[in-house]
Amino acid sequence: MPLSILATEKPSLTQEQGDPNPLTLSTPVTALKGVGPNLARRLARLGLSKVQDLLFHLPQRYQDRTQLVPIGALQIGREALIEGEIQLSEIRQGRRRSLVCAVSDGTGEIFLRFFHFSTWQQNSLTPAIRLRCFGEVRQGAGRLEMVHPEYRRLLGEEAEAIEVHLTPIYPTTEGLRQPLLRDLIQGVLKDLGEEGIIDHLPPTFLEGIGLPTLSQAIVYLHQPPPDAPLDVLAEGKHPVQQRLAFEELLAHHLSLRQLRLRATQLQAPSLASEGQLQKRFLAALSFPLTAAQERVVQEILEDMARDSPMQRLLQGDVGSGKTVVAALAILQAVEAGHQAALMAPTELLAEQHLRVLQRWFSPFEINVEWLAAKGAAKGRRESLNRLKSGEAQVAVGTHALFQEGVNFHHLGLVVVDEQHRFGVEQRLALREKGRHGAYCPHQLIMTATPIPRTLAMTAYADLDTSVIDQLPPGRIPVATAAVSHRRRTEVVVKVRRACQAGRQAYWVCTLIEESDSLQAQAAEKTAAELAEVLPELRIGLIHGRMKPPDKESTMAAFKSGAIHLLVATTVIEVGVDVPNASLMIIENAERLGLSQLHQLRGRVGRGAADSYCVLLYHGPLSELSRARLACLRATNDGFEIARRDLELRGPGEVLGTRQTGLPQYRVADLLRDQDLLARVGRVADRFQRQYPAQAEALIRRWLGEESHYGEV
Ligand code: ADP
Ligand code: MG
Repeated sequence: MPLSILATEKPSLTQEQGDPNPLTLSTPVTALKGVGPNLARRLARLGLSKVQDLLFHLPQRYQDRTQLVPIGALQIGREALIEGEIQLSEIRQGRRRSLVCAVSDGTGEIFLRFFHFSTWQQNSLTPAIRLRCFGEVRQGAGRLEMVHPEYRRLLGEEAEAIEVHLTPIYPTTEGLRQPLLRDLIQGVLKDLGEEGIIDHLPPTFLEGIGLPTLSQAIVYLHQPPPDAPLDVLAEGKHPVQQRLAFEELLAHHLSLRQLRLRATQLQAPSLASEGQLQKRFLAALSFPLTAAQERVVQEILEDMARDSPMQRLLQGDVGSGKTVVAALAILQAVEAGHQAALMAPTELLAEQHLRVLQRWFSPFEINVEWLAAKGAAKGRRESLNRLKSGEAQVAVGTHALFQEGVNFHHLGLVVVDEQHRFGVEQRLALREKGRHGAYCPHQLIMTATPIPRTLAMTAYADLDTSVIDQLPPGRIPVATAAVSHRRRTEVVVKVRRACQAGRQAYWVCTLIEESDSLQAQAAEKTAAELAEVLPELRIGLIHGRMKPPDKESTMAAFKSGAIHLLVATTVIEVGVDVPNASLMIIENAERLGLSQLHQLRGRVGRGAADSYCVLLYHGPLSELSRARLACLRATNDGFEIARRDLELRGPGEVLGTRQTGLPQYRVADLLRDQDLLARVGRVADRFQRQYPAQAEALIRRWLGEESHYGEV
């Protein structure tokens, strides 16, 4: 039964004066007075195990209990502290039985309503008793109400003290009551004192960037003055919040910079070559490289010639021609006598790479080996042997490439394709897997999800970046239209016409469910329906539940033109390259994110023919969906689309926070704090040089011990 007390005096929760073990930031919460195993467990659920964690556990919002509001001046929907005398107290039998107390302070009257109450409570709330209450003001039947307010009886004549600060409301967890958490944090703040809140940003440095000290920030956030600007705080834009966000972003940035620094101290085989293979390869290639491709190839080859491992991110919009760049890097490794591995996120894409590389490399007697999921391929043992002996120079596959039991003779280069879902830990793990004695392989990570610069700095500060900022010549932008599903028949006619004119088309079925089997079902159903209305077309089906050989033969048939229309799930999202396909229909387009739609659309517009993309939607469209579809119609530029996507959805969604390993921030918000990010980028190097010890401490504070990523 809720009977809250408006606490005024906070007890000291920790040690007595003169304790030989004074409270510090690293004191475990279990050492605090009143924290037993049960409470400790609940705190742990919130990630609170040390005193420092309590201080960095920031309020979600605040309540104003610093002034008494006259009842006559109450505003509906606002929380308020009031004082008054009970005029009447009775049980009412409305729709639900409740205890109602009318309270007046001379300026007006309000009802306190309790649906749950004890006899004791009922007896203690009698006329003439004076109360102080806090709660949200609502419009009741004919009168203002507070439902289940916090209250306390005022017994003496003397004025009771009221709060001097706004009251913080913390994120909490089941079984951990707000007042208890609040008292714990306030107690720690009191016992620690401002000097106990150790600032890792030296005063001179802080002055330079014009932000408050850590203790100023922490104290303000837990004990804001009554006139604190609540709207600014709610947006997270108060200087004290910006101070913490800055510190957090700096810590993450420094940690990635250290990783990069450590990588330069690692050894890698210097893969320099005369470039004979590359020359012959380019001479045989049916097109010249674009200037952008040539530039990034140079950047990559220079990296590979060094004796520390390359850590390079290659960004290039869909269709910008990253594969051929990867091929040139692979040739460099091979000519220098090493092996190379190319890893793709899906089997479909890996198979396509396999075929392309086999075709490109067959004149040079380079063996390209296929490694799929465990146990899938019959010849797996032989493949493994050829990689181990060095007989095969190139391996292509999915993550299976780096499973247990896969050993390379001397792996010099790892290329990771289309990995917008590839975090720091995965990059490090991959480097470790490819380690050969003291040598780490060079790493090239390719992505078609262009990442706005500020974000890239955060997510990929441990990498160097190359950008292919130009598409091969002759590409005609894909004309894009959003069409209601009610006009599906017209769309079907368009498909028939395109295919009869010798073009090919994709029909992409999407579901919000990530489940492979549901997606597969939807695609099967659509394929059957389309086969009925388009009997003159040869229709293929591809989805994630098919056996690899079946997928492969379907793709091969589509590629050769034997299939006109390919009904597919989003398995074809990345990388699939069939230049003769010039029409794409995407179902339920309103449910997909911008970047995903752009990826899908990138499957067409790869040949000389005019290409079209039809975004089928079910109306009515939400504001967000409307904005997305409009953006896709307006531009084909992946960077522009990524920027819009970021605005519309926020960085976590765009990059898929969990999968990218893009850090989950406690205070910072990449979208809101973009200008802070830029400042972090400007000062990080200087900070690291001038204050190496503080840099360490910052990283440990915000990323914990695991930030050191083992021994790498
Ligand atoms: P992505 O960057 O999306 O991986 P791909 O490597 O699949 O792009 O290339 C897309 C298509 O463009 C392929 O058919 C490829 O052969 C072709 N291509 C790549 N570079 C050039 C170029 N410089 N000139 C003409 N076509 C090119
Ligand atoms: Mg690609």
